[in-house]
Amino acid sequence: MRFEYPRGIRFRCLRCALCCMDAVSRERRILLLEAEARRISEATSLGIGEFALEVEDESPFRYLMRKEDGRCVFLRDNLCSIYEFRPIICRFYPFKLERISGRGLRFSYTEECPGIGRGPRLRRIYFEGLLNHLEENLMKAPGNDRSQI
Ligand code: SF4
Repeated sequence: MRFEYPRGIRFRCLRCALCCMDAVSRERRILLLEAEARRISEATSLGIGEFALEVEDESPFRYLMRKEDGRCVFLRDNLCSIYEFRPIICRFYPFKLERISGRGLRFSYTEECPGIGRGPRLRRIYFEGLLNHLEENLMKAPGNDRSQI
């Protein structure tokens, strides 16, 4: 798949949990694919409605993670309690994917993450891994396919 990514970018997660909560200048919206919501539900024995709200017009996403006091409901002691099952939006952060007309896909990033500029330089394989994960999860959802990327 054709995609662009920020060449030479360094990143290491500092586990500050900034991406798991609202900030003064922005609301954190953690959208979930159908397959992700089902997986979290199975792993936690919670009904989807207990941790997420259904949303419309956010295709391919179906749900929005609930928050308490502006923080993700699964944040415990500043750590993600569903890390193994965390949604794609969290896996992607501080990067996000955009479709560029005629040029395929492009990863951009937010400077708000204090982990940007630290750690190792990320190579193409890192971004390929994110794309593969997205594709696998889209394929699991009824009616979804990779054309939605
Ligand atoms: S804001 Fe960046 S450094 Fe902090 S937890 Fe999220 S990804 Fe890690």
